[in-house]
Amino acid sequence: MVDITLDQDKKDFIAEIEKLSGQKIMRCYQCGRCSAGCPLADYMDLLPNQVIKYVQLGLDKEVLECNTIWVCAACYRCSVVCPKDIDIARLMEALRLLILRDDIEKMDINKIKKEEYAELPQIALVASMRKYTS
Ligand code: SF4
Ligand code: SF4
Repeated sequence: MVDITLDQDKKDFIAEIEKLSGQKIMRCYQCGRCSAGCPLADYMDLLPNQVIKYVQLGLDKEVLECNTIWVCAACYRCSVVCPKDIDIARLMEALRLLILRDDIEKMDINKIKKEEYAELPQIALVASMRKYTS
C-alpha cells in the first residue's frame, strides 16, 4: 500500500510555496494542458504538471533539484490555458526563490569576461541576473 499522508514538513513546504507564489496548488487536477503547450518541455526533466504534482506531494528535495524551474521562460502560455487558473510561471518563480534565498546562485557574474559584456544584449543580462542570482 502506498502511503500518501502528508507529514508536517510536507505541509509546511506546500504552504510556503502557496504563500510565495500566491497560487492554490491543490486545485490542480493534472489535466496536463500546461505541459502539452509548453514550448520548452523538451528541455525539462520534469514537465510543468509533474512539478505541480511533486509540490502537491510535498517532495521538496526532488522538485528543487529539477532543471525545469530554471528552464521555464515565464512565457505564461501554461498559465493562460490552465482550467483551474493556476499561474504556473509564478509557481516556478517561487521554487527558484526558495533556492536563491539560501544564497545558492545559478549564475556567477564574476565569470563573465569584460569583452563578453560588450557583446551580450543588456536586456538579456539583466533578465538573467534577476532569474539566476539572489
Ligand atoms: S493546466 Fe492547470 S490543472 Fe491542468 S495540470 Fe496544469 S496546472 Fe494542473
Ligand atoms: S511559463 Fe514556463 S512552464 Fe509555462 S509554458 Fe512557459 S516555459 Fe513552459
